[in-house]
Amino acid sequence: MHPPFEQLLEVQTLDTKLAQLTHTRTEIPARERVAVLTAELEEIDRQKAEIQAERDGFGRVQKRHEDEVATLEAKLTKINDDLYGGTITSPKEAQILQEEIAAIGRHRSTIEDKVIEQMELCEPLDAQLEELSAKAQTAQANLGAAEAELAHDEGEIDTDIDAVRTDRSVQASGVPEDVLAAYERARVEFGSSAVVVLQGTNCSGCPLAMPAMEVDRAKKAPADQMYSCEECGRLVVK
Ligand SMILES: [Zn+2]
Repeated sequence: MHPPFEQLLEVQTLDTKLAQLTHTRTEIPARERVAVLTAELEEIDRQKAEIQAERDGFGRVQKRHEDEVATLEAKLTKINDDLYGGTITSPKEAQILQEEIAAIGRHRSTIEDKVIEQMELCEPLDAQLEELSAKAQTAQANLGAAEAELAHDEGEIDTDIDAVRTDRSVQASGVPEDVLAAYERARVEFGSSAVVVLQGTNCSGCPLAMPAMEVDRAKKAPADQMYSCEECGRLVVK
């Protein structure tokens, strides 16, 4: 065979290999796991944000009640100071202050119950948040492992791809530009069988037998001339 055609066939083999490697690269098993775990983590984050928002709502109400309790306690301290500070002399006045202390105490106790209510509402949410955090931690660890595996597998395939590309450029350098261009065009349509070898009385890519005249023409053509099979359109070398 005319050496440039031998090299062209080699280019075609390497192109097929490149296509296979590229496909294998997209189908690395760890790639799917990375996608699944990333989606899982996003879902956990979404759930956490939702629960956290609800919890923050209860937390704000709790804080309001706690502030109110603090205000009431400050009031109690002040009244107690007034009552026992020695400035109150009339029993009537003392009685009023004592009644006030009792009233504020009752009110404080009501508000304290409300604080506890909010705390109780927060409890199951805190438990859920903790559970989700643990889940996220596991998913994150698995994601890390899957990403490492993916990077490793990609690295191996990329090394192979680089080697095949180097080979291809070496082989392609021996093929005339117009032949290579014709091959590239045919490859769009015929993929890995853009260029075929004349076998006996047939183009090996032909779905049908090559017409006798075409075979005759092919056989008579100079060995360094490439032509297209009129039956299927593939490039034929011999
Ligand atoms: Zn053909």
